[in-house]
Amino acid sequence: MKNEPLTQEQYTDREASVCPMCRSEDIESEDIDQDGGRGTANCQCHTCGSYWVDFWHVVSYDNLNEGMTSKELKGVEKRAKDLANALLTSAKESVE
Ligand SMILES: [Zn+2]
Repeated sequence: MKNEPLTQEQYTDREASVCPMCRSEDIESEDIDQDGGRGTANCQCHTCGSYWVDFWHVVSYDNLNEGMTSKELKGVEKRAKDLANALLTSAKESVE
């Protein structure tokens, strides 16, 4: 007897962890192709060979950390280089 494919609701209830055709967990999903808070991922079942597309959308974010802009990073990089050069110069001087 052939199973009916999972409904959208059954599929999302199972958190997209099984093949919607045969319910196998031996499925593979490609990286999400993201566009404007939504994305798609090609999926394939290794058990029955079915393939489908998952639709994803962002629901929240977490672990926000303040970072540095590339301009700020360049400033840090320059100061580090200047410091390294200064150390190198003083090291050379102490050797001489
Ligand atoms: Zn399958």
